[in-house]
Amino acid sequence: MKNLLRISLALSIGSGLYSCTQLGFMDHRVIPGVGLAVADQVQRFKLTPSASAVADRLQFRGTHNDMQATGYYVAPNSSVTLTVKAISGPNSARLAIGTPFRDNVRPVRQYVNLTEGTQTFTVDKYGGLVYVIYTANDYLTTGSVELTFGNGFLPVPYYRKGKNTHQQWLNALDTLKSMVPDVMFESENAIMVANMDEALKYRGENQDLIINRLDSIIDFENRISGLSGRVGVHAIPDNKHLITVRDSASGGYMAAGIAIYYTEALSYRMLQPLYLSNTNGWGLWHEVGHTYQQKAWTWSSLGETTVNVYSMAAERGFGLPKSRVTINNSWPKLDTYFKKPIADRDYNTGDNELKLIPFQQLYLAFGDNLFSKLSTKTRDTRPAITSDADKMRYFMLSVSEITQKDLSDFFRKWGFKVDESVYQAIAAMKLPAPAVDITTLRDPK
Ligand SMILES: [Zn+2]
Repeated sequence: MKNLLRISLALSIGSGLYSCTQLGFMDHRVIPGVGLAVADQVQRFKLTPSASAVADRLQFRGTHNDMQATGYYVAPNSSVTLTVKAISGPNSARLAIGTPFRDNVRPVRQYVNLTEGTQTFTVDKYGGLVYVIYTANDYLTTGSVELTFGNGFLPVPYYRKGKNTHQQWLNALDTLKSMVPDVMFESENAIMVANMDEALKYRGENQDLIINRLDSIIDFENRISGLSGRVGVHAIPDNKHLITVRDSASGGYMAAGIAIYYTEALSYRMLQPLYLSNTNGWGLWHEVGHTYQQKAWTWSSLGETTVNVYSMAAERGFGLPKSRVTINNSWPKLDTYFKKPIADRDYNTGDNELKLIPFQQLYLAFGDNLFSKLSTKTRDTRPAITSDADKMRYFMLSVSEITQKDLSDFFRKWGFKVDESVYQAIAAMKLPAPAVDITTLRDPK
């Protein structure tokens, strides 16, 4: 890769023209006037609320990505130059080099404070994709910074919603395939990183469909969370979900945290739109779901349970005919569990498939609204609770209040072992029992 650093590369997408000087890699034909799907050399970045500000507003259990994509890569140990122009707001923008999980050889990613004017710095021994972190821990601060990416910043194939065409994608792949290891997709609500080899393998797919389906997954999960618009307590976050490839040798399958990663062997599911919206999409819907879990009603045994409220919303959103509960053939687990005397049932000790069933039954009884109202209420009231007992109490009372039904029978049958005062508090609400025993509900055949 080193010999490529000495090149200077100028690309102009707006005009559909580009010129590559001192390059030896232009051995293919690019259709004139079509151009490449790559980043602009000059870009403006707006300040956004930090990941922790977003998590606090939305009452999430964890923080997720607050980095913005640049569409550029820098090689290990290279010297790179960029020019910073402050437009407005605080001068706190930073570059972050390296995609979380993607570069998991690196102990800490490299951060560079951006100062007004032109600056040159040396990349660490890992290199990687370049991101901008420009955040504030509140919703009032605004700011904007303009960056001009100079020598050493190598564009990667970068497919953006509404901006690029399939032909531009192919041109970018052909032009850059021996220069950079990664490619990027950016939709309204997601940034996805894939590796070049896999992107080449699936080059014939419809890239618009890929990014539209990424947005659909996030839309379905926003909706069941009661999030809409861009302003206020219940707004969809400005920060995008970051989904990235990880070397299969590093182990794992998929996981969510500051980014969502998928191992390289799963690339076929990310780069073929069919697999984002059929049953193979479950893994990604599930990992995206982890970023939405609210702390007030995810007590410690529900980490792999409440997450699927969101993944099943995506499953329904894509019109899949069967729920995961049915696909996993989990219903017989309910029958087995319910053979025990109620006094012997302890919901929290069940396996994850069993624990999901009452959530599906609540959905069958009350629909998506129950979960969007619960999420909305949680953001409005910001319950200051940390213990499992308090979280169970909050969930049980909130669900009864939102549905205006006395759900004691449902919770008792499911073995929700809580202090009797919780059941007394539900009784004190003097709500009618549901018309049907919700524990008898099953997915339609
Ligand atoms: Zn999980």
